[in-house]
Amino acid sequence: MSKSQKELIQKENIMIKKNGGVSSGLSPKEEIVIKGIGGSPGICIGKAYIVDREGVDLVKRYPVLEDDVPAEINRFKNAVKRASDDYSSVINSLNSDFSHQIDILEAHLALFKDKMLYGKTIDTIKVEKINAEWALKKVLRHVKHMFMKLSDPYLKSRVTDIVQVSEQVMRHLIGAQDIKISDINKRVILVAHDLSPADTSQIQLELIKGFVTDRGGKDSHTGIIAKALGIPAVMGLGNATHKVENDDIVIVDGISGILIVNPEEDTLFAYEERRAIYEERQAIRARESHLPAVTLDGHKFELTANIELVEEVVSVRDNAAKGVGLFRTEFLYIDLKRFPSEDELFDKYKEVVDLLSPMSITFRTLDINGDKVLPYMKNNIDEENPALGLRAVRFCLKRPEIFITQIKAIFRAAAFGNIKLLIPMISCVEEIIQVKEIIARSIIELKQEEKVFNSDIPLGIMIEVPSAVIIAEDLAEYVDFFSIGTNDLIQYSMAIDRRNRQVAHLYNPMNPAIIRMVQMVVNAARKKNIDVVMCGEMAGEPFNLPVLMGLGLTKLSMNPMSIPVIRQMVTRLNVDESKEFVDRVIKMGRVSDIVNLVKEKYGKILSD
Ligand code: PEP
Ligand code: MG
Repeated sequence: MSKSQKELIQKENIMIKKNGGVSSGLSPKEEIVIKGIGGSPGICIGKAYIVDREGVDLVKRYPVLEDDVPAEINRFKNAVKRASDDYSSVINSLNSDFSHQIDILEAHLALFKDKMLYGKTIDTIKVEKINAEWALKKVLRHVKHMFMKLSDPYLKSRVTDIVQVSEQVMRHLIGAQDIKISDINKRVILVAHDLSPADTSQIQLELIKGFVTDRGGKDSHTGIIAKALGIPAVMGLGNATHKVENDDIVIVDGISGILIVNPEEDTLFAYEERRAIYEERQAIRARESHLPAVTLDGHKFELTANIELVEEVVSVRDNAAKGVGLFRTEFLYIDLKRFPSEDELFDKYKEVVDLLSPMSITFRTLDINGDKVLPYMKNNIDEENPALGLRAVRFCLKRPEIFITQIKAIFRAAAFGNIKLLIPMISCVEEIIQVKEIIARSIIELKQEEKVFNSDIPLGIMIEVPSAVIIAEDLAEYVDFFSIGTNDLIQYSMAIDRRNRQVAHLYNPMNPAIIRMVQMVVNAARKKNIDVVMCGEMAGEPFNLPVLMGLGLTKLSMNPMSIPVIRQMVTRLNVDESKEFVDRVIKMGRVSDIVNLVKEKYGKILSD
């Protein structure tokens, strides 16, 4: 393969052509496989319907006469008005089930009048006497450049929102053809450069088999809506709209994030089979999700959900979770864009309790900083190495007023339901002693204020720092349960930033160091007679289950969508057998040997 061919492959995201050669994408009837991001799981096969191929990238620059500048500014203002009307009409059309999406759209709506975008574009038209499209494009390029230089990942991610609203304005400026969704009279796969909320609102969703977009990622609007509706989607494909022709047969593999254009017969056949298997499995899991998670030898497992938003209680119920094993509370602080009051927190927590009662809910106290920086706090903290800095409980102990406010709200909500309190990032005994002092102060305040509360609830700590693993027995003296957070435990024990793609190959829960650490925590909990749960992503991956079962874990908390598949896997395994299996695993020093052994012993069950 020549260098230029390789570059083309990289640039154009082309992975393979069926005959092993390289597809240039010029011949529309060649099978092309393009790698993107899985936006919504599932597989669909159908005819492509292309919308908005040109996007808004083709705007031209032209000068505007001095006298025409006010009219040009008005043209821009009208386009902004029409674009924001699009957003408002979508917001109005969504019911309360979509409150998270509504919040996102409302945040986008506010951006239309953002000084940086709106004010600057008007200034540019005035000063440079150029057309509105070019002025907006220029301002947008500047904004993008500025944002990309920021180190704050939250602020950096806001640039996507700004691009999205600008494009909606641009569509109105250039009079881009609206998507001819009304022309669709058969079930199709929609292939678009990007889909704005206004676009998606025009779509008769029952006619859409799948979504494919050049832009976007998992959390783009199309992704959110596709997931909520169970429509397979692949996004972030780069320039799929230039590689697909109307009516081409395409396969959307939302599980692996792959788009196949003009599949050859055997690819089609293989995917038809995969689709049928996937749908059948989904149907079986959904049907059986209410059944207890009991192993072949009669051991009962407790599968609970990890959630972050009140809206996710729907998913907790749909996937028959036995409670919430991890409620990540930081998201309320991020959404509000300021520190919430005790009453605001209490109202939210009580809402979750009322919705899920009598299920148990584990509220984890604020785990901010590290990779979850509160935008309104950015100026207060300047850390070279935030993951090792003032994160989670360390921050809370430094700002007791914020910590006490949250603990009081949790205790007040506990008067109305079955609540547990979980403290993140504990790394030494002193910290848990200080937490207990904070708890005592919270109780005194609640009593003085004569508020209804219940502080007699289980207290747990996350075991997610290697030091906590080593002193687990000492820590167990102070708490009622451990919750193993493998996402951070892997990050901190392997010294790999969990967001860094360069070291992602080292991030493997089947690393013997991780397995042995989990074993140490389970043994310490058993010895000290306290409960142990695992709530890191390791718990929601079927491949890891035989090892976790063999280590003695029976309580697992995970993304609610993973519960049906883990439940099914539990019912196919045997605790005694997995214990013997772990006796072999624990002696192994290489990740690859462990992975191969799991495949050898459980491969069949895992692929069934
Ligand atoms: C973990 O670290 O495993 C965990 C569950 O917490 P988070 O992903 O929120 O850091
Ligand atoms: Mg963590």
